[in-house]
Amino acid sequence: MSDINNLRIHFYGVQGSGSIFPSLSERKATQDHMDRELLACIFADLEQYVGKDGRISARVEEIIGGPPTPNNLLNYRDRFNIPSPRVYGGWTTCVHVETADGADIVFDCGSGFRVCADNLVRKWGDREKRELYIFGSHSHYDHTEGFDQAAVCFDPRNHIHISANRTYLRALDQNLGIFTHHVDSSHKGVVTPLYYELMPAKFYSCEIRDLAQEPPSADGDALANRYHDLNSSFQIGETCIQPFEVFHPSPCLAYRVERRGKVFVFCTDHELRRGDDPTDPRQRDSLEAEARLREHSRDADVLYRDGQFLQAEYDGFQGIGSPVGVSRLDWGHSCIEDVIDMAVECRVKSTYIGHHDPNRDWSERNWFDETLRRKSEQSGYHLQLAQAETVIDL
Ligand SMILES: [Zn+2]
Ligand SMILES: [Zn+2]
Repeated sequence: MSDINNLRIHFYGVQGSGSIFPSLSERKATQDHMDRELLACIFADLEQYVGKDGRISARVEEIIGGPPTPNNLLNYRDRFNIPSPRVYGGWTTCVHVETADGADIVFDCGSGFRVCADNLVRKWGDREKRELYIFGSHSHYDHTEGFDQAAVCFDPRNHIHISANRTYLRALDQNLGIFTHHVDSSHKGVVTPLYYELMPAKFYSCEIRDLAQEPPSADGDALANRYHDLNSSFQIGETCIQPFEVFHPSPCLAYRVERRGKVFVFCTDHELRRGDDPTDPRQRDSLEAEARLREHSRDADVLYRDGQFLQAEYDGFQGIGSPVGVSRLDWGHSCIEDVIDMAVECRVKSTYIGHHDPNRDWSERNWFDETLRRKSEQSGYHLQLAQAETVIDL
């Protein structure tokens, strides 16, 4: 019996461009912070044992409630209920949605997909029905790099349905040949030692495209096992998934997921372009994509959205982890300030800002989160930076 009420969203990877992990100085700063908090609590606690002579007169057992065994020490610490520090970093984009009717749906196969797939294999155990539905956003490496490391690809009992635009399907296929059963000799073994003969799961591809604009060829096609019209939704059990195009240097899809009236919008890698020429077709395309995103996000329960830069960083007035600013126009990512405006205007209940820049350090992210916490209090809409391992029940 599932303990999922409706939809469970699990963020496995929220980093943009590349995986990052805490540096030595970030780990030390976290340790120092925790030690300071704990020591302050311990010394405040010891005050009750200070006699008139200013000395502490109590045995260790009395203070911690028993001999100093590892368990007793941890129980003593837990009395103080010190909040854990915010932890940032981790793998690149992968979000898993589990539904109460048993569907497993994954958005993107960045490096977070390896961990997600391990958990899926554990969850599936020996069950008969082993279906995974993957929806891809776009072909960039940080959205595909975890695929050939995922345990789900190596069990012949697993059925993996991958729906995405053509460039995403091609990005997975050109090194691995999982759909076409062919790898060009110039690709074989170059990027990865793996290819389809070493990956015994069953793979099914579905190309999402605007069929009115681009009808499929009559002879069919080796890359796409089937087609799905961009303008119609997928139905997986009771869950309805509507793809839509956003704006990025490589064609990119976002998805609106709805089940029993609850809505989650997954939108990674989208740029609300801040160009100054309104006649530039890129500016027009970006604004049209932003309007689509807003329409699909209106009154949503949860939105995951790219907000890689501050506006000053986007404009090149300020560097990220470096004193030198570089213009980020046409890099394909949005500004945090614009995401906040959009979330409030669209009345999104909870917004998780992701695709974090790998050069952004922890102290800066902590400061962003504090700012977002205050904004949430003012606006009544929850805003925070997306963190790996966050689980949201809808
Ligand atoms: Zn990306
Ligand atoms: Zn990208």
